[in-house]
Amino acid sequence: PAPPKPRKIVVLGAPAVGKSSLTIRFVEDKFVDNYYPTIESSYTKVVKHKNQEYALEINDTAGQDEFSILNNKHSIGTHGYAIVYSITSRDSFYLCETIRDKILNYTGTDWVPIVLIGNKCDLEGQRQVTKEELAALGQKWNCSYIESSAFSNTNIGKAFDLLIAEIEKLDKASGGE
Ligand code: GDP
Repeated sequence: PAPPKPRKIVVLGAPAVGKSSLTIRFVEDKFVDNYYPTIESSYTKVVKHKNQEYALEINDTAGQDEFSILNNKHSIGTHGYAIVYSITSRDSFYLCETIRDKILNYTGTDWVPIVLIGNKCDLEGQRQVTKEELAALGQKWNCSYIESSAFSNTNIGKAFDLLIAEIEKLDKASGGE
């Protein structure tokens, strides 16, 4: 069988939207209620997508405001981005546009592999962002999008799988490995 393809992923978004929770849910299959702002951490996981193994390096970022949320080192060598907001926070949804603009600015391209994730979908009663708004932004960006819950373990694996598919699109387009 083909060796796993190494792929670097960065998880970005406003503070407290659940970046660490969904990364840890994905990598370790557990939910940790952590009250401390995340320290920047890196995780690895091997997953299968369409009969090919991928060795994912996932970087969970910890910017505290929209200026520190993304820095240049996050774009170097990165194959794909998970941009996360919380469906309970309209501000965190708006911030996603700023984050994508910054990525495009750093990379100097007009398209990068992104999965746009509306996390905390278990908190329906506190919803501030509709599914239609998510779909509209995802279509505008021409990227994948999904609602998830790290808490109830909904669509976490699916979200990363969608991102691998986006990364593959770019690989195929550039003819590279
Ligand atoms: P980060 O700062 O974006 O990494 O966010 P954290 O992962 O630290 O999560 C912030 C808070 O939201 C914590 O109290 C988490 O337990 C909580 N949280 C994260 N994901 C979910 C989710 O899917 N549902 C609910 N109800 N709470 C969540």
